[in-house]
Amino acid sequence: MNATKYRDILDENLFQSALDLRLGQRFTFQQDNNPKHTAKMQRNKVMVKTVAIIGAGISGLGAIKACVEEGLEPTCFERSNDIGGLWRFTDEAEDGRASIYKSLVTNVSKEIMSHSDFPMPEDFPNYLPHHKYFEYIKLYAKHFALVKYIKLKSYG
Ligand SMILES: Cc1cc2nc3c(=O)[nH]c(=O)nc-3n(C[C@H](O)[C@H](O)[C@H](O)COP(=O)(O)OP(=O)(O)OC[C@H]3O[C@@H](n4cnc5c(N)ncnc54)[C@H](O)[C@@H]3O)c2cc1C
Repeated sequence: MNATKYRDILDENLFQSALDLRLGQRFTFQQDNNPKHTAKMQRNKVMVKTVAIIGAGISGLGAIKACVEEGLEPTCFERSNDIGGLWRFTDEAEDGRASIYKSLVTNVSKEIMSHSDFPMPEDFPNYLPHHKYFEYIKLYAKHFALVKYIKLKSYG
């Protein structure tokens, strides 16, 4: 085995170890002195860090996504029966949940209101009627598969 190949193996093992750390897995790095042998790793599962997130409004959804990307295990507690926070308009006010009013149109443009990793659909107007922003929130949650982390009708 030449030096380049040997270094490649070491690099690969180092990279794998970094991934394991990120995923909360413990690893032991075993390297014998024989360069013909690929380094062997033993992985033991250690507890992944869990995170509680209160509320499945747009902030809560962003927090879930960030946790998942970091290898954490989020659970989001949402006291109402759907996601969207104050952008989910209902005719009747719900106890403890702020709401927008029926005629509300956003006063911030769609470019500014969208997440940098999920632009608004092209055909959405520049300033959104509230139901369009709610639609965007739903699209965001679906696109990043966030709903499975949310417990509706639960209090944090
Ligand atoms: C009238 C009005 C107009 C606005 N217009 C704009 C605009 O045009 N552009 C803009 O960018 N922003 C606007 N905003 C700001 C708005 O606050 C943010 O856009 C955004 O909705 C905030 O999201 P959030 O997730 O932080 O909070 P929210 O949307 O309020 O969501 C909070 C969620 O947490 C849940 N919750 C709260 N406490 C608990 C608990 N103890 N346990 C479980 N669940 C809980 C609630 O049920 C809710 O679903 C406006 C706000 C208002 C009131």
